[in-house]
Amino acid sequence: MILMNNFKSEPEELIFEEITAVERVIRSGAYILGDEVKKFEELWAQYCGVGSAVGVGNGMDAIEIGLKTIGIGRGDEVITTAMTAFATVVAIIRSGATPVFADVNLDTALLNPESVERCISDKTKAVLLVHLYGQILDMDRWEALCNKHHIFLLEDCAQAHLASWEGKVAGAFGRWGAYSFYPTKNLGTLGDGGMLVMNVDEDAKQAKVLRNYGQVDRYHHSMIGGNSRLDELHAALLSVRVKWLKEFTIRRQTIAKTYHNGIVNPKVRLLAKPPNENCHVYHLFVLQCSQRDELSTFLREQGISSLIHYPIPAHQQPPCQGMKQDPQGLGFTEQHATECLSIPIHPNLSAQDVQHIVDIINQF
Ligand SMILES: *Cc1c(COP(=O)(O)O)cnc(C)c1O
Repeated sequence: MILMNNFKSEPEELIFEEITAVERVIRSGAYILGDEVKKFEELWAQYCGVGSAVGVGNGMDAIEIGLKTIGIGRGDEVITTAMTAFATVVAIIRSGATPVFADVNLDTALLNPESVERCISDKTKAVLLVHLYGQILDMDRWEALCNKHHIFLLEDCAQAHLASWEGKVAGAFGRWGAYSFYPTKNLGTLGDGGMLVMNVDEDAKQAKVLRNYGQVDRYHHSMIGGNSRLDELHAALLSVRVKWLKEFTIRRQTIAKTYHNGIVNPKVRLLAKPPNENCHVYHLFVLQCSQRDELSTFLREQGISSLIHYPIPAHQQPPCQGMKQDPQGLGFTEQHATECLSIPIHPNLSAQDVQHIVDIINQF
């Protein structure tokens, strides 16, 4: 079976480096908020081209802490997409704010700016963009839109590690960017991890207080915070894995090229080709097909796994029933949810696997 992810086939050299890093942490005797976290925060801030980074427990907490850091909470509205991991929406709700759902463009499944403008009210505090599937697009337009309406631009970068728009990396555009290091992400650890990246020093300071019970100095608490820290163990593993990210991203982009050139079945639509290499890091490769479920079954019968990102958009999940959305509805979000299918694109796929996937899709 060709899997969506196959960590067991990772390079031996990488596994050896990871074991060395884990041993280093064990022998250091320091496991929470030590040098490994500090080192990886500095490294990731550098990669993203921002002033600061704050390691947290996971990607969802990064968003929640990010919102609280800039004072977004009860009574505030945050516009976002319903075509995302549910964690994006949970984080907004847990901050105390209310999500408002705007529609997407069908050719990218990314937020549509006109729909976002229809959602703006006097309670709107921010637009939380999701760089879905690894795509980052039209950032100049998003910056202009948010400046015009005096609201924050925020970035959910959980699927877009080091994707860049005109040379600037995801997370460097908004007031902050939230990263997840969940194992299946483009940069993942061997458990949970997350990070906020930002340029405002004061925000970084506040985020560090919020991740650690609201503690400013030992035993002094300026507010009620949570417990959401990136572990030393994960920071050490990420410092190893980040060295492989560039190579793995290029591998994903090469596979995507083969799919774009090779898949010619008229029953299948591919999402829009990115305008340049770097603005898509292909966390996922997503097709649209009106016979999606038949295609998925056919692939499985031929030994190919696939998944759906996402079959039930957030506004249709029970806890979100009746939440505010674009007055013109979320037609494209709903269409995409019924037609989308993600096929394997992980960096450990062989060229043979990739060709097999192209051939089988063309046979459907
Ligand atoms: C994975 C993901 C998250 C949540 O990250 P966790 O580390 O699992 O909490 C948030 N948003 C998007 C778009 C994601 O893909």
